[in-house]
Amino acid sequence: MRGEFDLIRQYFSRTAGESVSLGTGVVLGVADDCAIFSSHHQIATSKDLLVEGQHFFSDVDPFTLGHKALAVNLSDLAAMGASPIACLLGLALPRIDEQWLSAFSKGFYQLSDKYHCPLIGGDTTKSAHDIVISVTVFGEVSPPYLMRNKAKVGDIIWVSGALGAAHTALMLLFKSQEQALSPQESLLLVHTRQALECPEPRIMLGQSLKSLANAVIDISDGLLQDLGHIMEQSHVHAYLYEEKLPIAEALRSLPTTEVREAVLSGGDVYELCFTAPAKFSEDIGILAKHLGIPLTAIGEVVQVSKGEPTITVFDRFHHKVKMMKKGFDHFASSV
Ligand code: ADP
Ligand code: MG
Repeated sequence: MRGEFDLIRQYFSRTAGESVSLGTGVVLGVADDCAIFSSHHQIATSKDLLVEGQHFFSDVDPFTLGHKALAVNLSDLAAMGASPIACLLGLALPRIDEQWLSAFSKGFYQLSDKYHCPLIGGDTTKSAHDIVISVTVFGEVSPPYLMRNKAKVGDIIWVSGALGAAHTALMLLFKSQEQALSPQESLLLVHTRQALECPEPRIMLGQSLKSLANAVIDISDGLLQDLGHIMEQSHVHAYLYEEKLPIAEALRSLPTTEVREAVLSGGDVYELCFTAPAKFSEDIGILAKHLGIPLTAIGEVVQVSKGEPTITVFDRFHHKVKMMKKGFDHFASSV
């Protein structure tokens, strides 16, 4: 039976050897009691936990899980306009499954290579039942910071990418645990699954927004929930226009109420939502073309009115949409 140290050596110590070129500023990778990196900038850091059964299905493809474990963290760096430096990986595993570890580490490294975010350390331990994955990322930032509390009245609200696919895939996967999916549902799952299991962090977009946006957030807990954080912290109110929301192509044939819930409240979305002065709208259009990422104006920031919720959504007849569940909250039974 192979032990903890063999496992680390085999799957997670690519930055240990001298032949491995370390990221800028990384002085010491996986090897010693601590890793070491240096930077002349300020450091942004963030951690996300992924727990089996809570954040991923036990039978999920380990390659995509490795990708996602890092992607959700890089998404937080993206939302701060930070440039990745390095990451740490904590793993609690009920058993050593070589195939799983090999695929997981490949998925992890593929993304860490793509965004120059080397794995420089971590911890590995046994867990009683479930897999727990904890990633910490470090990135360089400089002022002005892309914070949640800087949205201004008159700003346009933008969102990257297309919305709703991850939520639809999640609902279908839950359903498939109980019963066989219809051929249409299976096809829909094929077209939406990538968004749920293999999200792309918007690192380049985040960095480009530094000169354009007032407030930025990644909408991992759902558009309404996360945009709500910007509104609350900035003491402003959002008008959103439903017909402007970028809906994932695969969802076009679904009933309006289902699409509405997926797009407005569906979580596990690693797109950026941001507010920017109206004078930058043309520049944002040019940026979208340059990066090859759709950027859509979905609403505007208005003055907060007493007793109103933080966001009002209008349908295409300019009627207020009755608010449903806002988004994802681990400890709330309803939001
Ligand atoms: P310590 O006893 O100081 O916690 P370990 O024996 O746990 O050190 O780890 C040895 C080395 O392997 C350290 O450099 C540590 O950062 C690294 N390491 C352990 N687990 C992982 C992992 N899952 N991913 C990356 N590096 C890891
Ligand atoms: Mg340790």
